[in-house]
Amino acid sequence: MFTEAEGKSLLSAFGIDTPRGIEIAVGQMISDDIREPLVVKAISSTLVHKSDAGGVRVGVRRDEIDEVAARMGEQLAAAGHRLDGLLVEEMVPSGHEVIVGAVRAPGLGWTVMVGLGGVLVEVFEDVAFGLAPLANEQILDMLHELRGMKVLDGARGGEKADIPALVTLISRLAGPNGLLQSLPDDVIEIDLNPVIVSGTRAVAVDARFVVGPVEDTGSAPGDRDDGRATDFTPLFHPRRIAVLGASGQRPNLANRFIRNILSGGFDGTIVPIHPTADSIEGLPTVRSLAEVDQPIDYAFVALPATRVSEALSRGAGRVRFAQVISSGFSEVEEGKDLEETLVQTVRDAGIRLIGPNCLGTHASAGRLSFVPEAPLTPGTTAVVSQSGGLSVDILRIGSLRGIDFHSVVSIGNGADVTAAELVESALRNDEVRVIGLYLESLAAAREVLDVLTRAEMRKPVVLLAGGRTSEGSRAATSHTGALAGNHRLWPAIARQAGMTLVDSLEDFATALHALSTLDLTVKPNGRDAVLFGNGGGASVLGADALERQGLATPPLADSVVEELDGLGLPPGNGLRNPIDVPAGTLAVKNGAIAKDVLAVVLAGSEPAVLISHLNVGIIQRNLGETHGDVTGTVIDSIAGARDEATSNTHQLLVLKTDGSADTEALITTYAHRARTRGIPVFPAFEDAALAARAVLEQGQRTYQASRDADGR
Ligand code: ADP
Ligand code: MG
Repeated sequence: MFTEAEGKSLLSAFGIDTPRGIEIAVGQMISDDIREPLVVKAISSTLVHKSDAGGVRVGVRRDEIDEVAARMGEQLAAAGHRLDGLLVEEMVPSGHEVIVGAVRAPGLGWTVMVGLGGVLVEVFEDVAFGLAPLANEQILDMLHELRGMKVLDGARGGEKADIPALVTLISRLAGPNGLLQSLPDDVIEIDLNPVIVSGTRAVAVDARFVVGPVEDTGSAPGDRDDGRATDFTPLFHPRRIAVLGASGQRPNLANRFIRNILSGGFDGTIVPIHPTADSIEGLPTVRSLAEVDQPIDYAFVALPATRVSEALSRGAGRVRFAQVISSGFSEVEEGKDLEETLVQTVRDAGIRLIGPNCLGTHASAGRLSFVPEAPLTPGTTAVVSQSGGLSVDILRIGSLRGIDFHSVVSIGNGADVTAAELVESALRNDEVRVIGLYLESLAAAREVLDVLTRAEMRKPVVLLAGGRTSEGSRAATSHTGALAGNHRLWPAIARQAGMTLVDSLEDFATALHALSTLDLTVKPNGRDAVLFGNGGGASVLGADALERQGLATPPLADSVVEELDGLGLPPGNGLRNPIDVPAGTLAVKNGAIAKDVLAVVLAGSEPAVLISHLNVGIIQRNLGETHGDVTGTVIDSIAGARDEATSNTHQLLVLKTDGSADTEALITTYAHRARTRGIPVFPAFEDAALAARAVLEQGQRTYQASRDADGR
């Protein structure tokens, strides 16, 4: 532990404003250059929160110091502490009390916190985290995440805080050349609580530097000696696949893999490797990787953990990628050494390792999949998953929700190829437009953050994070340490990396579906939505769902409403927004009226998103016989209105079921039809609202990145 005075002199060496002060022995005089009013603070090696034990007195005159010290000595003694000396400092004029802190987290480096509330910070928990080094913009983003930001900004007649001074203070602590970067390894937590921010200054009036055991961070996985980026094309378009672990007698996981890719139409060469069997799954075997006559693009390895290294060492110079499905490596204590050996083996052999402890790779265009009867329509969405089981769900639920996958790679322990490296390659890969990540490790997410920060190219990224409970908060001696739980660090990483963070597999699929279906070169302004469709109550709930995602549904301008009115619709419509129409209105021109309505909205109000919603069961029952395919015509109308308009609006469609099998079947067909025309379809408003948020968030970021790259 540093003393408060030592901490403060370190702060001022980095240009952080602290009160002028001096450490003295009890009874000693202070020099004249320290001006009244004064603050007297106890120095005591056993005392953590000084004021709790009566160890802080503010508004003290010079001639009162001895008396204050005497009383402080008594109070501390009563609480079991010794008064070793005094810190006497100038009292800073009042202002907003802000906490700024930092804590080292394993695999993350310094995580930085800012919050409101001074001593009450742990009650209100109005805090935001970021990861050092922080750019000023990112510091501002953190401040804007605080509910109390309005208070700092002078809400309700309060003093307006000097935000630039606060940003500068945080930057001197946590910026690119800030204090944090130069601290010795054993400093693990810092609290500046409070920083007093007035209209003209931001001053750290308290400083705690906590010293503790140094975390062993080890060497980062994926650090390749050669420094050259791996070309992942052979993984996603393999021509020759070796399979290790299939049996000639008792079919197992590896046998099933062979059957999967055969039935999926893989048209390259499959080489089962087996020491004794002559043929497996009807294919001739080779005794070991040493005997294959041509290079292997991808080796699927499902051998007992203890035999993997040996088997792969024989493939030196012959195998590009090996995916080790086997478990029993670093995910269990006894397997840590085995994994180290494996990593060393593949590095020596020039093989890139995926896994171990994973399920496999799915690559639609390569007709490679570890999932039986996997959907193989090639798409533009690339997913990396730290969980094997979940990667199967992602593929299945994702394709039901309308995603065509480029690839799904289950990376397991990520001992060699990491999530970050796959993200880096996806950014370079023209076949990929959208990236999805399922991560359970904050350290892996931090590496992705670094990749996205460095990258010139920007693509939408959606993050599903496992383990977002508050459990990760460790018992800490600082406020910052106590508040630095996983549930706060995931949002911090997502915000800083520009990833859309979602809470469930369904939301993950929803966001990826929207991002991969819509044309993201369309750049909407603002966050307003217009709703159009049948069902009054439904659209009210829809507006609520949008509001929860930060989108507004404001009434349309009078001129637009008049124009809609002039379309000669039958009576009974609500035209203000939400635009509510009974099924009868949708019958006009057999549904083509939708195009007229949408065209008026696009031209007249240009919302950021326009969500059409149809109750397919009702439309089908009421209009099916008399007016034909109204839903299909509305879908064509949406696409038509979009193509003829010049507006920057994203259009989404909600197709609601009445639960009957007929309607569900219709919806599947309609959803496909809409998707091929670039219109994402969702089963409920909640999903469409989340999708709208993701698209606006990611679209804006993509835009910003390309603008920055242009140097504009
Ligand atoms: P603690 O160890 O209890 O956190 P602090 O040094 O933070 O002690 O002091 C307690 C409170 O006293 C602070 O929250 C702040 O309101 C006030 N305070 C401390 N030092 C000063 C100062 N130099 N100027 C003005 N107020 C101060
Ligand atoms: Mg304090």
